[in-house]
Amino acid sequence: MSLLEFEKVNKYFGETHVLKDVDLHVEEGEVCVIIGPSGSGKSTLLRCANRLEEIQDGEIRLAGQSISNPEADINRLRQRIGMVFQSFNLFPHKTALENVTLGPQKVKGVDKATAKRNAETLLDRVGLGDQADSYPNQLSGGQQQRVAIARALAMDPHVMLFDEVTSALDPELVGEVLEVMHGLAEEGMTMLVVTHEMGFAREVGDRIVLMADGRVVEDSPPEVFFENPRTDRGKQFLSKLL
Ligand code: ADP
Ligand code: MG
Repeated sequence: MSLLEFEKVNKYFGETHVLKDVDLHVEEGEVCVIIGPSGSGKSTLLRCANRLEEIQDGEIRLAGQSISNPEADINRLRQRIGMVFQSFNLFPHKTALENVTLGPQKVKGVDKATAKRNAETLLDRVGLGDQADSYPNQLSGGQQQRVAIARALAMDPHVMLFDEVTSALDPELVGEVLEVMHGLAEEGMTMLVVTHEMGFAREVGDRIVLMADGRVVEDSPPEVFFENPRTDRGKQFLSKLL
């Protein structure tokens, strides 16, 4: 059994078939990088894993338990699957520390002192120990995104989903966010990462999953994908990067 399993997942928006028989198994501790052209279904796949979207057919399981089943306890599931988006979505009127303590206090019933202690540790871990009292508008985009990662980690998730988390950042701020993600990977976090950062994909990814038109068209280790892709779609995608 893999930690996160997508089996024959099909998703429609009205008449539009956006995920087509997607099979994907992510092992515990694995970093699975999803790449592919715009509109290929990458964000939708992550959103289905977090039940931000419903699927019409197939199944998604976390540690053997169905996520996609309508009876599943969504709140408990969402605690186990952290997600970070392209837009940082921090609460603007809360400090960095409060952004990180809010979820554990409200959703998990953690007491204030414990939540604060954990948040301080997490802010340290993302290199923002000295910004605990700053408000989002006092932080750079890269710093805000690192707070967003700390906020997701505060729920103690089993899996982290990252959807183009560096795409909205100025180029000089991309590295500091990727570095935090690299550290998480090294600590053994299971991660599903949608990104255009091919250096990161190659260095940190255990697997590269190429999506096109709602399907997984290649699923290869990075050294295979970037040197000798198995599929024509893979070759085509790579040739456009050069
Ligand atoms: P990607 O993240 O790979 O760019 P998306 O998952 O965002 O792709 O989109 C996949 C397809 O689903 C696209 O054709 C997009 O237009 C469509 N789509 C995404 N979200 C919605 C929505 N809420 N309603 C209707 N169509 C959507
Ligand atoms: Mg997307």
